[in-house]
Amino acid sequence: MIVVMEPGATEEQIRRVVEKLQSMGFSIHLSRGVEKTVIGAVGERRAEAAQAIEAMPGVEKVVPILHPFKLAGSQFKPERTQVKVGNVVFGGEKVVVIAGPCAVESREQLITVAKAVKKAGADMLRGGAFKPRTSPYSFQGLEEEGLKLLAEAREETGLPFVTEVVNPRDIELVASYADMLQIGARNMQNFTLLREVGACGKPVLLKRGLAATIEEWLMAAEYIISAGNWNVVLCERGIRTFETFTRNTLDVSAIPAVKSLSHLPIIADPSHATGKSKLVTAVSLGAVAAGADGLLIEVHPCPSEALSDGPQSITPEEFDSLMAQLRPVTTAVGRRL
Ligand code: PEP
Ligand code: MN
Repeated sequence: MIVVMEPGATEEQIRRVVEKLQSMGFSIHLSRGVEKTVIGAVGERRAEAAQAIEAMPGVEKVVPILHPFKLAGSQFKPERTQVKVGNVVFGGEKVVVIAGPCAVESREQLITVAKAVKKAGADMLRGGAFKPRTSPYSFQGLEEEGLKLLAEAREETGLPFVTEVVNPRDIELVASYADMLQIGARNMQNFTLLREVGACGKPVLLKRGLAATIEEWLMAAEYIISAGNWNVVLCERGIRTFETFTRNTLDVSAIPAVKSLSHLPIIADPSHATGKSKLVTAVSLGAVAAGADGLLIEVHPCPSEALSDGPQSITPEEFDSLMAQLRPVTTAVGRRL
C-alpha cells in the first residue's frame, strides 16, 4: 500500500509512520516529492495496518497498490531507478549500448569485436559463455573458458560485460567474472534462478520471455527485487506473434508501457527481435525514439561463420554506421549517446 503524507507533515510524523509499518513487518520505500512524502509499503497485514496508519498524525490517506507487482512498480517507487554497472548508468540521460557476439567462440573473434565496438562507441560488451540453445546438438558455449576470454576483453578495452547464466549452480562462477548477469528469455520464469540472482547482488539484465505478458515480466523482476536486488534492467527482445518473416516481433509499445508501470530502466534487443541483420538498424532507431534506455546488439566479425545467431548479427562496420545513425535520434528525444 501507499501512505500519502500531508503536505506539511513533520519529519517526526514521517518517522513514526515508517516505524509503525516496519514493526508490522512491512518493507518500506520513502519517496520525498517537492510537496508530499509518499511511503511505499509491502507486507501481509494490509487491512490492519491501513486502519492504524490512517489515524496517525500527518497522514493524508492510505491507498492500495493496484498491480500484483509492488516493489517493481512506479506506484511504490515513483522516482526512476538508475542501475550502475561500473561507470555505465542505465536509466540516465545517456542511451547505453551493449554490443558483442551472441556466443564467445574464440579469443580472436571476441577481442576483434570488443575492440571494434569500443571504437564505435559501445558502453558494454556482451557474449554468451553458457548458451540456452533450442537444440541440444547446437554449440552450447565455451563455459568458463568463455568467461575468461570475456574478462580478457574487458582488460583490453575497459568495457564491462554482461553474460547469461542459465543454471543456479553456475551463478557463483559467472558472477565471479561478469559485471552484469543476463537472464535469458527462456528462463524468465525460472523462479529459482530469479531468486538466486537476486540474492547474489550483481546487476541483472532481465529479458522478456518469448510469450510473456508485461505483467508476467514485471512479476519476474519482482522476484529479483524481493530477494534484495534492486539493480534490474529490463530488456524487450521481441515476442512470439503470427508473423514468421521476422524471428520475433519487437513490442515497441512495451517500452513506454513499462516506463509508466515501473521505475526500472528498459532497453531493447533488435537482434533477437528481428532475427535479420538488415532490420537491426531501423528497429534500433525506433526503440530509442520510443524511449528505450539502451540497446543490445549482436555483432560478429564474420556473421556467415557465426556458431549462433549469424543471420541477425551485424558486422563491426555496420555497427559503426548504426551508431552514427542513432546519434541524431538520441538528440531528438532529449538523450545522448
Ligand atoms: C542472447 O542474448 O543471446 C539470447 C539467447 O537471447 P534471448 O534469451 O533473448 O533469446
Ligand atoms: Mn543470440
